[in-house]
Amino acid sequence: MSTVLIIEDEKSIVDLISYNLKREGYDILAAYDGQTGLDLALSGKCDLVLLDVMLPVMDGFEVLRRIRERSSLPVIMVTAREEERDKIFGLDTGADDYITKPFSVKEMAARIKANIRRSAGIRPPAAGETYGPFTVDRDLQTVSRSGRQLELTQREYDIMCYFFKAGARVVTREELMEKVWGYDYYGDLRAVDVAMRRLREKLEDDPADPKYLMTRRGAGYYLQF
Ligand code: CA
Repeated sequence: MSTVLIIEDEKSIVDLISYNLKREGYDILAAYDGQTGLDLALSGKCDLVLLDVMLPVMDGFEVLRRIRERSSLPVIMVTAREEERDKIFGLDTGADDYITKPFSVKEMAARIKANIRRSAGIRPPAAGETYGPFTVDRDLQTVSRSGRQLELTQREYDIMCYFFKAGARVVTREELMEKVWGYDYYGDLRAVDVAMRRLREKLEDDPADPKYLMTRRGAGYYLQF
């Protein structure tokens, strides 16, 4: 059974989500402010975090930043406004996903399931396997380039593993969305491009002139090494 941590200051929303997720078979932890939520997120007791943006004591972006200093736990941001959504995409916040208020409980449950499955699911073929200058450590869920460990989010790690599995094949944005994000993203493929841009900043010596993560115009992306 998986445990979902809800960090949200509106008790009625916590109760609603909690009620529905329990029916789906999840255990629930709840925190009503950012600091308490952060402590619980880092306690090792949960498998996924649902994180509201506007929170007392410490806002959701700060909570996420501090979680990412120490953990690749899947985090779904819950946003109320368009500008918050843009911030999640525009900044390197390390969020795995987002949901916009008002949300349907059914959609939220589907996303939680997909994110937990994804974080538990995609694995590289073998521990310590190398692909050109890249080395994957399955146990630590890390990727190194030429011996230097890359600071990847959980999703970026999953993307890299997917490219390793694909070999030199060009992977379409739709395929990445389906296989890595794990559900129909309602055609919002912009998230893939944002993820690729961030990944290049971590992989490449010069992100503007990539040597590894390549674009095939009109087709998709591929990894070369
Ligand atoms: Ca709030």
